[in-house]
Amino acid sequence: MTHRPLIVGNWKMNGTIGETLKRVTAIDRQLEDGAGIDIVVAPPFTALYSASVALQDLPIKVAAQNLFYESEGAYTGEVSGSFLKDVGCDYVIIGHSERRHIFHEGDEEINRKVRAALAAELAVIFCVGETDKEREGGQTFERIEEQLRIGLQELHVHDIEDFCIAYEPVWAIGTGKTAKPDQVAEVHDWIRNYLAKRFDAPTANSIRLLYGGSVKLGNAEALMKTSNVDGLLVGGASLDADEFVGIVEVAGHVESP
Ligand code: PGA
Repeated sequence: MTHRPLIVGNWKMNGTIGETLKRVTAIDRQLEDGAGIDIVVAPPFTALYSASVALQDLPIKVAAQNLFYESEGAYTGEVSGSFLKDVGCDYVIIGHSERRHIFHEGDEEINRKVRAALAAELAVIFCVGETDKEREGGQTFERIEEQLRIGLQELHVHDIEDFCIAYEPVWAIGTGKTAKPDQVAEVHDWIRNYLAKRFDAPTANSIRLLYGGSVKLGNAEALMKTSNVDGLLVGGASLDADEFVGIVEVAGHVESP
């Protein structure tokens, strides 16, 4: 692993403002030394501002879980990248499998979101991953290639300085079925090679590759030691401050020589 590790807690649709602040305070209290690790939490839209105010002097950044690709206008119910910046976000998660599958976001729409996020100067955590049917049908790489090809279209080397790609096999999200380290390594190595061909080797190496899907304290170390894994995108386990801080510490420990 050549990068500063990044651990992201995706809190999904969980937490009022009060609950979010409690979680943030509990994480801060237990975090002994965040040095060497980048930590990001993604509360629901309604708690983003409060979380970013509470975290402003701490080494924890805030991500949104989605955005809309237009900057403003008659788009009832939507939130733009510049509004996310306005409430203190530095990152945004795009293309999460729940957005793709529950809200039917397609690759083209996701690409528009990626470009809008970059235009708003947000760091992107771009999610890809195959369903169990695609894996069983031997289409894992075909599907990920499509997600990357369309999702990254019109992007140039200078666009993706702060880019992260999260490999999240759909069959591993919220199921307790974590991908095995050799399955993760196979896909992460493939993504790194794809990026080197799509951009160039230094750019490919500058992009952090995260794994997500049933990450917990018990499997974080093995996953962090896996080839081309630069960090973790943690869903369910990140709602528990003790467990999330434990995962952050494991990641810091794996990184240190
Ligand atoms: P999980 O979710 O850790 O609960 O599987 C991961 C994610 O959805 O990002």
